[in-house]
Amino acid sequence: MAADDTSNVFEAHPMEGGDGPNSYAKNSIVQRGVVDAAKELVKRAIVETLNIDILSSSNSFKIADLGCSVGPNTFYAVENMIEAVEFKYQSQGQNSQIPEFQVLFNDHASNDFNMLFISFPENKRYYAAGVPGSFYSRVFPNASIHLVHSSYAIHWLSRVPKEVLDKHSPAWNKGKIHYLNARDEVVRAYEAQYVEDMECFLHARAQEIVYGGLMVLIFPGRPNGSASSQAWANMSFQVLGSCLMDLVRKGVVSEEKVDSFNIPVYSMSPKELAAAVERNGCFSIEMVADLLVPPVDDTSSMPQLIASHIRAGMEGILKQQFGEELIDKLFDLYREKCEEHISTTDTGKPVNFLVVLRRKED
Ligand code: SAH
Repeated sequence: MAADDTSNVFEAHPMEGGDGPNSYAKNSIVQRGVVDAAKELVKRAIVETLNIDILSSSNSFKIADLGCSVGPNTFYAVENMIEAVEFKYQSQGQNSQIPEFQVLFNDHASNDFNMLFISFPENKRYYAAGVPGSFYSRVFPNASIHLVHSSYAIHWLSRVPKEVLDKHSPAWNKGKIHYLNARDEVVRAYEAQYVEDMECFLHARAQEIVYGGLMVLIFPGRPNGSASSQAWANMSFQVLGSCLMDLVRKGVVSEEKVDSFNIPVYSMSPKELAAAVERNGCFSIEMVADLLVPPVDDTSSMPQLIASHIRAGMEGILKQQFGEELIDKLFDLYREKCEEHISTTDTGKPVNFLVVLRRKED
């Protein structure tokens, strides 16, 4: 079978590249906190569930990071996993058998891979390669990966559900940019897109990961049993939507532009992910954990922090729709709204999860 090249089929909204003040590299401490919070659990999962016999003696150990962006978070995560695999070999008295590592950094083709490549840590202990393409399709050869990692990426859907942008559909999401407090039809359209995407994701990984290989998934989501509206990410999108509507009222942006814009992000619960894993049938669930991310010390800088965090993640998609000129104005307003919002309401804590899967034998 020819290697899939589907990079043009999927929507791509990579994070802000480079190392400027609004870049992802400089505005991803929230995600860094999550990688840190997961660190010991990921180590434990690898040490307890990885069977080192999955590697034949001639092979290098292959790790893939899906949705790696530009670093530095991906480098911390990779380093941590390599330490855990090495520890596993040492603890079994197989020090001399420790393999060479190859790390495959995956993201959309439009990700700033140059930035990633020039910022590799000194003395990295692995061979690196970039792999462009959507992780909702095949990106690696059959049975070639031993350990997959993905942090803060699988909440991005492959695209905005079509119906929410269709004027003639009952799921048309007029005046909103996400599904929080939207009509049931809108929520259902997002849920259906998630189910379809996760099916593709698991199907592709089931082919790429060797039997016994592990997949570590870290994602912002919502707790089991809670409604979609209880996710922090959704709250921040609601604020962003209301800023855009303010700019419509001021005549800065056309209403049509806002109506034809929705954010393709879905906050799944661990249970929803488990149901998808069950349907796929190729993986066992080895660990599910809530990640407790320590709060930021300085609450006075919270609005700024949230604004920078959301900007670094959303700038690409917003620029595509509204043009570069609007971005500063939009985020000035966003920061002001966050200030009001945070002082008057409880925005809820970020909720992040870790799920570790293992490729079963067919
Ligand atoms: N893992 C990093 C970056 C998270 S930002 C960290 O924890 O800091 C999310 C990244 O996922 C972005 O770079 C985005 O381009 C990427 N992404 C989203 N959907 C994707 C897809 N379908 N295929 C590949 N990468 C994707």
